[in-house]
Parts: sequence; structure tokens; C-alpha cells
Amino acid sequence: MGHHPSTYPDGKKHCGVCNRKRDLMFFGVTGKKTWTLRSNCFECEKKYQTAAEHTWQGWAKRRLSSCRGRAKRKGIPCTITQRDVLELLPKDLKCPVLGIKMQRGNRKDHSKSPSLDEVVPGKGYVPGNVVVVSNKANTWKSSMAPADIKKLWKFYRKFDV
Ligand SMILES: [Zn+2]
Repeated sequence: MGHHPSTYPDGKKHCGVCNRKRDLMFFGVTGKKTWTLRSNCFECEKKYQTAAEHTWQGWAKRRLSSCRGRAKRKGIPCTITQRDVLELLPKDLKCPVLGIKMQRGNRKDHSKSPSLDEVVPGKGYVPGNVVVVSNKANTWKSSMAPADIKKLWKFYRKFDV
């Protein structure tokens, strides 16, 4: 499989996005061993990547695909759509648990990034069982049972913290 450059006698290929006929050097290869070139030129690919990192649509798409992967590994359903994910994102971007403003994470800090939480673990990423909360809240919840969080609070409130 794959297209050796001889597939393109004039050494050019059409980009599926910008539709320019460009030199083959503008196209990345998809596999290490094959000559299959990407359908879009690297400039268009880059724009797509940037959109995936900076737009909420891109965010929803990525979160959903990671949920699908997790669901598959755990053998639980994942029926929510990208649209559902965007609708679950609070309009004011405030974490419904902590009240902090959620924002796209950077490489160093993901605590304020919005994340998808499976409310009842094991029930799956199905409508009604998914909320968007900050990563911070999500991490706490997945590391402690609600009963334990209650114990934690009961213990520390004595100190008036
Ligand atoms: Zn292009």
C-alpha cells in the first residue's frame, strides 16, 4: 500500500483543504514505512491542529475522543456527541463545583481546564451521566469517594479553615 512519489508524475498533489496543487514536499507522510501522503498540505494541517487546541469545538472533539477510548477500555457505553459536550460546558465557564473560571490548560497547569466527568462511575458517558467540571474537581472526585470527602470536611472544619 501507499503511493510512491512516482504516483505523482509532475511531483505535485492537490491539498484537500486549500485546493492548491503543491509540491510533494508540502505534504507529510502518514506512515513510517509507506509513501502515503497526507491529504492536506502541512500549512492546512497546522491550522487544523491550532483550531483543535484553541477552539471549544476542538476541545470538545478531543475530550470526546479521549472519553471514547476510556469507555472502550472499561467496556462502558459512550453515546454522547460533540454537540452534547459543548452544551454541557457552562456558558459562564465557571466550574459548577468550585466556582472558579475554567480555562484551557497550558502544558504546566491543567487544573482549571474543563473536563468531562462520568457522574456515576461505570454507567458510562451517556446523556444525563456526564458533567463538565474543572480538572481539579474531577481529580478530587476520582480519587475520593463522596463519603470520604465528607469525612475530610468534617475533620478540618474543627480548625475553622
Ligand atoms: Zn493546503
